[in-house]
Amino acid sequence: MRRSKPYRFLAFAAALLVAGCGARPAEPAAWSPPPAPPASTSASPTATSAPATPAARFVAATARVTAAELGKSWRAGCPVGPESLRRVTLTYWGFDDRPHTGVIVVHEDVAADVTTVFRTLFGKRFPIRGLEPVDAYGGSDDASMAADNTSAFNCRNAVASGRPSWSVHAYGKAIDVNPVENPYVFGDKVLPPAGREYLDRSTYRPGMAVKGGVLVKAFAAVGWKWNVGGANPDYQHFSTTGR
Ligand SMILES: [Zn+2]
Repeated sequence: MRRSKPYRFLAFAAALLVAGCGARPAEPAAWSPPPAPPASTSASPTATSAPATPAARFVAATARVTAAELGKSWRAGCPVGPESLRRVTLTYWGFDDRPHTGVIVVHEDVAADVTTVFRTLFGKRFPIRGLEPVDAYGGSDDASMAADNTSAFNCRNAVASGRPSWSVHAYGKAIDVNPVENPYVFGDKVLPPAGREYLDRSTYRPGMAVKGGVLVKAFAAVGWKWNVGGANPDYQHFSTTGR
């Protein structure tokens, strides 16, 4: 549903006020204060429709998922079935400095912790480029990474040498965040290729995972691991297992 422009303007201004960003130019003096946003996170029935009206509050909803909804990201023989997965619809902060609504598919055991992580990221205005299940990319990890998409569940093998083995993503217990800003350096490959611009990890740019930074601390707070000390650092990858 489209909103009239004045409404959107007020809603955006409300978002800025809640964000408390002192560096913004002051709003016109002719304004009256915009209405307060809803007090309850459950009072937003349109939160999952897109394009959503910008909301400065974090909203999350967890739902069951069917095989049909998982599409190309799942098939018979995968280590976990649809009944063990959850589709979490939540608010994230974009690189455009505005709130957005996205979806991430994770194992039911971690849905609450993942929601906590994204609530923290939203509160700190940590930018996420996009948040869609990999089915939106035909189940292709490469396509999802190239689009700088943040995602979790994907029934696929680990990108590694040696015998094929399930990735932790195939269990819905790993998340790749902003793959372009946080590439996987595998031998002489950089995944995705556009991530080559971010091989220098010493210069912080928005969306990057860095030691002591918002992203790494948010995952560490729920016990998830970020293991980039080896020969093939995977900067985008956070998981329950450290693999
Ligand atoms: Zn990963």
